[in-house]
Amino acid sequence: MCGIVGYAGRDRAAEILFEGLKKLEYRGYDSAGISTRDRGEIFTAKRGGRVEGLRLSLKELKGTVGIGHTRWATHGEANDANAHPHAFGRFAVVHNGIIENHAELRAELRAAGHVFASQTDSEVVAHLLDFYYEGDLADALRLACARLKGCWALAVLCADFDGFAVTRRGSSLILGRGEGFMAASDICALGGRSAFYCVPEEGDIALVTPSGIEIFDAELSPVGRAFSPVRDVEPDSDKGDCPHYMLREIGQNARTVRATCASVARLPGLKEVHSRLGAADRIALLGCGTAYNAALAGVRLLGGAYDACVTAHIASEARFDPPGLTARSVCIAVSQSGETADTVMAARAAREAGAYLVAVTNVGYSAITRVADKVIPVCAGTEICVAATKSYVGQLACLHILASPGRADVRAAQLLKAADGIERVVADGSRALEIARLCVRSRAVFFIGRGADADAAVEGSLKLKEVSYIFSDGYPAGELKHGTLALVDESVLAIVLITDEGLAEKCENAVEQILSRRGRVAVVTTLADVHRRLSPRTDAAWLLPPAPAHLSHFLTAAALQLVAYRAALLRGCDPDKPRNLAKSVTVE
Ligand code: GLU
Repeated sequence: MCGIVGYAGRDRAAEILFEGLKKLEYRGYDSAGISTRDRGEIFTAKRGGRVEGLRLSLKELKGTVGIGHTRWATHGEANDANAHPHAFGRFAVVHNGIIENHAELRAELRAAGHVFASQTDSEVVAHLLDFYYEGDLADALRLACARLKGCWALAVLCADFDGFAVTRRGSSLILGRGEGFMAASDICALGGRSAFYCVPEEGDIALVTPSGIEIFDAELSPVGRAFSPVRDVEPDSDKGDCPHYMLREIGQNARTVRATCASVARLPGLKEVHSRLGAADRIALLGCGTAYNAALAGVRLLGGAYDACVTAHIASEARFDPPGLTARSVCIAVSQSGETADTVMAARAAREAGAYLVAVTNVGYSAITRVADKVIPVCAGTEICVAATKSYVGQLACLHILASPGRADVRAAQLLKAADGIERVVADGSRALEIARLCVRSRAVFFIGRGADADAAVEGSLKLKEVSYIFSDGYPAGELKHGTLALVDESVLAIVLITDEGLAEKCENAVEQILSRRGRVAVVTTLADVHRRLSPRTDAAWLLPPAPAHLSHFLTAAALQLVAYRAALLRGCDPDKPRNLAKSVTVE
């Protein structure tokens, strides 16, 4: 979380940094700030709220060198004082990550006479730099980092240095070279100015000046790091004609499935992955949030295809309670950004246990790709809306192909049909509005289903709560009578997914149980019979295009994403930037 950007070149820095921060805002939008340097003086503007709030201050920020930050607070409220950059002495610092030993360092520095201006963990870095500085910025940064515990990407401006320094450990950071020299948390912030990018190694320290970038390892020996053309990973971050990124990205679900199939089905080394899966004693899927929900679907898909014991794990738990992997096991780590701290750490632990590591990710240059034995690319393109939509269906497509040893082409053909179905769901979203209206009138919404529909229900619930802040929960329909039914009355809505003929009757029982307690029911189904039976008796019934049960989650995902989007709008929420959340969860 948090977006960092730095620029050193011939043009005014403030506007370039401001544009970069706007592109990084999906990573955090609690507060924002920019520092620039001109003739030995540092100028800073920072405040709580969105990046846009800095616009009027830009003209005061002189110089052609600077750093900027958009924050997702971990330590300290989202207010002006806690906004980055944090300045002390001759330094201004922006930080992405968490300094875990900040309290201890703060106490030590206070004892040495330092006075702190914020409640953040990050501010200690500015004070440490001041403490160690003897005229050499890179050396002060080396010494300061040696005292830190936790994870960080840091950009540092020093009044004495015509440029800025950056370093990273556990957080993302990219260097850019082109019209001027840049650093940023994500390639999208290089703003079309950089023709080449490079991902520095953990611990590297880079000095970025208007005349170039010098990279050193953690001991300050110069190192060469390869730069690649930015055009190979060109981000697509335009909203097009859509009022929100969320709607645009839901509209790209089908395209994502097609692109992912095309790319994964001819991926070199796919056979090797299939044979590893075939020989595995255990297959453990890891993920957080929506990626975990994709992993749940992966358990059914892979469990049906291989003899191994297949399980899904929430990465933040698996890291400290590893799923007993061996050298015969395969771990599949699912992460949209590939930077999800919990997933990267748990994946590393799996690899250390000897497991073969497969990364399913949307970002080809991300941290998880550098740990994995094999990367399965989700071809969703840049996903800007904080709530994952198209990346989820892309992850599902990857998992389908992983679950199709020896017949990936047959499964790819089925997925293309599913993509056509998604398009029909998205094109006819009128039912979504009707169900969204029911959601906003309800005290709570329960998403239920059986089999694969239960996993889709969990993801549908997450989407609704993320963007509309309506309380919701998702789980297997059979569980309703084991507790949750106690909550059902006329103010509660159940969204019931029914896409498997073999399980339909059992789900209809759950519908009866809710209706008997005067609860409201909206049915989302691919089965015409179910729709015919239930539509006269329920508050809403959405008939999706027909689909085989193992593919129906593509259709229900798109339908429930649209419901969540419409509910967010009805409640006046910004679906692209839900409160308290950020994309790319790079802190633990
Ligand atoms: N820990 C820092 C803060 O709260 C940075 C947070 C982040 O990277 O998301 O300001």
